[in-house]
Amino acid sequence: MSLRDLPSVDKLLGQAGDLVAAYGRPLTTQALREGLEAARARLLAEPGPAPASAALLAAAGAQLAALTAPTLRPVINATGVILHTNLGRAPLSRAALEAVTLAGQGYATLEYDLEKGERGSRATHAERLLIRLTGAEAALVVNNCASALLLILSALARGRGVLVSRGQLVEIGGGFRVPDVMRQSGAKLVEVGTTNRTHRRDFQEALDERVALILRAHHSNFKILGFTAEPELAELCALARPVVDDLGSGALLDTAAYGLAHEPMVQESVAAGAAVVAFSGDKLLGGPQAGLIVGRADLLARIKRHPLARAVRADKVTLAALAATLLHYLKDEAVREIPLWRMIAAAPDDLRRRAEGWRAALGAGTVLAGESTIGGGSLPGETLPTGLLALAGRAPNALAARLRALPQPIIARVGEGQVLLDPRTVAEAEEPALLAGLRAALGAG
Ligand SMILES: *Cc1c(COP(=O)(O)O)cnc(C)c1O
Repeated sequence: MSLRDLPSVDKLLGQAGDLVAAYGRPLTTQALREGLEAARARLLAEPGPAPASAALLAAAGAQLAALTAPTLRPVINATGVILHTNLGRAPLSRAALEAVTLAGQGYATLEYDLEKGERGSRATHAERLLIRLTGAEAALVVNNCASALLLILSALARGRGVLVSRGQLVEIGGGFRVPDVMRQSGAKLVEVGTTNRTHRRDFQEALDERVALILRAHHSNFKILGFTAEPELAELCALARPVVDDLGSGALLDTAAYGLAHEPMVQESVAAGAAVVAFSGDKLLGGPQAGLIVGRADLLARIKRHPLARAVRADKVTLAALAATLLHYLKDEAVREIPLWRMIAAAPDDLRRRAEGWRAALGAGTVLAGESTIGGGSLPGETLPTGLLALAGRAPNALAARLRALPQPIIARVGEGQVLLDPRTVAEAEEPALLAGLRAALGAG
């Protein structure tokens, strides 16, 4: 009976020194035990010779390698979608990365006052910079813009009404819907106007003593065209309730300077009189995932006192990256230092030249005029002209799959029967890896 020929776990473990060194004894023991159980089940179902120890050890090694392989892997984004949500939105600047390393590898003055030698405030790091950059009285950093909105509504409107235009009852993506967040916060949604047209007087007429706030949610990811109307933010701010402006992207620089539509800027909302403005750290700001809240000092004080504020507060690593990112704006070097703005500002001629360089280095493909997009639910329909390296072939989807299967995966677009690669979202430092990967994938075709 070959079941008897199966080695014991202890015997295998004695021969598994390399695996134990690499993965630890408990995990290795578990993998060997599972391998033996599987072998036993196979032999019971179909009697035959037992597998050799070497085969059992090799199978355990493969299983352990698969189990412990990193799942959050760096990829080369050659799609030309700058804020690719599935690929992690904004890459961080060099200074932000250095700040993350310093804050993460040891202790830091997260809530410590060096002068007094006692407890300080985590608000000193990014919030004073946000105040200076936006002109707001006060600021708070939380986990992301979705939690910012939940916190604001919970703190300022629980059990009371919030006016929202029917044209702004939006789903942002990832299941984030304004009406759901409103319900979760305990605020009562009061819809005003119609899907395509809402006027100042619609808000005016809905104002009664039960209403705590007016919410404006930016149409980040869609456009309403045709017969439409929405009051200006300043008109809403002239009404007798605080206006909360959910900007989503919340740019600090003017996107119109780069041939894009003008994305609402945080400074503009503050200047127009919005009482509280919420925006993301990792959309057009180009920093880490975070939710940034700026606005009136009295309202921010109430928001900071709410118990949810503690539940959604930002950690030291986020605050370090965010402060470093905000400093780029303060020092007027954002377009040079923040990868997102460098990509937005890249000149089409330079991009075309880079695509030509790739074509020459590979001896394959053609260079086409194409378009990059912003992505991340920002500036829908807006594009930036670029040059694309197009690789034609009988099976573009198979080539795209081989590119994704590389040790450093390359994510490309497939369009018009070709694999399309956009230099706009590929850092120059990534080019050697990109070209090596393309050569390998083309050679294997
Ligand atoms: C993206 C977006 C959000 C959610 O922001 P996260 O930082 O991803 O949580 C909220 N509101 C609007 C208008 C958005 O565009």
